[in-house]
Amino acid sequence: MIELRNIRKSYSTEFTNLEVLKGIDLTIEQGELVSIMGSSGSGKSTLLNILGILDEYDSGEYRLAGHLIKNITETQAAKYRNNLIGFVFQSFNLLSFKNAAENVALPLYYQKMDRKKRLELAIEYLDRVGLKDWAFHLPNQMSGGQQQRVAIARALVGQPKIILADEPTGALDTKTSYEVMEIFEQVNREGMTVVIVTHENDIAERTNRVIRLTDGLIE
Ligand code: ADP
Ligand code: MG
Repeated sequence: MIELRNIRKSYSTEFTNLEVLKGIDLTIEQGELVSIMGSSGSGKSTLLNILGILDEYDSGEYRLAGHLIKNITETQAAKYRNNLIGFVFQSFNLLSFKNAAENVALPLYYQKMDRKKRLELAIEYLDRVGLKDWAFHLPNQMSGGQQQRVAIARALVGQPKIILADEPTGALDTKTSYEVMEIFEQVNREGMTVVIVTHENDIAERTNRVIRLTDGLIE
């Protein structure tokens, strides 16, 4: 599903050149549940953003579901993102003025699905994460754990091939974190590829493989 060969990435400013990824080789098969660990600043988000085609890499080769992701247009990148990837972030990134169902339905709007069908599907996915009764609540009327479950429903509703989650439990307490992990485990059992960036050992332990990032390389 994911194939990285000798991926390098650095950030340059006028005065410095920071090499963050120094030749990453990594394969993630379809249906895997993996975590990416590493200390703060080790390049976990940089790596995940490359996987999600949110950021470009300097050299190497990245293949996603067989497509070479290199020198592609923003239109093409957006198309791959919409069709293949669901994102979950530490800070949920919900639209505060839209209710839960509208937030979940948003990716379907970009797929040009009609409004009634979008809302039906959104409520179906909210039901899957245990939030059917919260469909018409605004994010600020929900707990952090509930908001993250809405974000997961939004990531799933477009039926992507892979879920990329950047510290999805970083803002949650332990009990709520485990509830969120249960949802990831459930969708993984149904065949979804799930990649979770975390710096928490107990979260990483719940995945089937831990990828460790140190000094710009995978251990
Ligand atoms: P992590 O997610 O593991 O904490 P990041 O991938 O966010 O690490 O960042 C890795 C390093 O790259 C850090 O030193 C960070 O300051 C730097 N960095 C990240 N994004 C940028 C950017 N857009 N411009 C310059 N430096 C950046
Ligand atoms: Mg990060």
